[in-house]
Amino acid sequence: MKKISVTVWNEYFHEVEDAAIGKIYPDGIHGCIAGFLKEAGMDVRTATLKEPEHGLTDEVLNSTDVLIWWGHMRHGEVCDDVVEKVHKRVKQGMGLIVLHSGHASKIFGRICGTNTGELKWREDGGKEILWLVDPTHPIADGLPEKIVIEHEEMYGELFGIPEPDALVFISWFEGGEVFRSGCCFHRGMGKIFYFRPGHESFPNYFHKDVQKVIINAVKWAAPAQLPVITGGKSEPAFVK
Ligand code: ZN
Repeated sequence: MKKISVTVWNEYFHEVEDAAIGKIYPDGIHGCIAGFLKEAGMDVRTATLKEPEHGLTDEVLNSTDVLIWWGHMRHGEVCDDVVEKVHKRVKQGMGLIVLHSGHASKIFGRICGTNTGELKWREDGGKEILWLVDPTHPIADGLPEKIVIEHEEMYGELFGIPEPDALVFISWFEGGEVFRSGCCFHRGMGKIFYFRPGHESFPNYFHKDVQKVIINAVKWAAPAQLPVITGGKSEPAFVK
């Protein structure tokens, strides 16, 4: 069976500019995510902001089944042409997984059509519990009813997204806030999953259950062998 082809995109500035964060993710956040996806049997490439076309050339995008997106400080530097191409590929069937502060990225804003940058946040390193609210969803496969993360940044509602097609996780935070942490959307032939954890100053992409969610999400979002669909003026499907 053909392996799922994943491209992990990371802005890749925090890890380079801040020694403490570089120590948590010596190979970058993208390197950490690529590592556990490879171990799960996937074909994985990485791409970063500074590369020509941010590493997302036509060749890369056209051979990517699922694109993972982590960005934070430099959303504005992502070239609109690249965003346009990613958006087009998603509508054609490429899966997209948007992580943590990718909520405010150009591509997620384009997908959602709402102000996805709106939410509450507090970088206090308190506890987060992600409660599984859709245990029958493929992304929930093999997971416990709750994922406990000892130290994370808080994100609180109201989150400026459209109504998700499926809500898989809701987070609780020590300050009393709640957040829709695992949200599925469909756009055209493409499946999109937003997953909340992954602030750069905590090592949470090494958390086994967080990894399991991302692995499951890649499998869920990978395009099936799509049938050829034709539109426009059409003859009756049955001849009387
Ligand atoms: Zn953050």
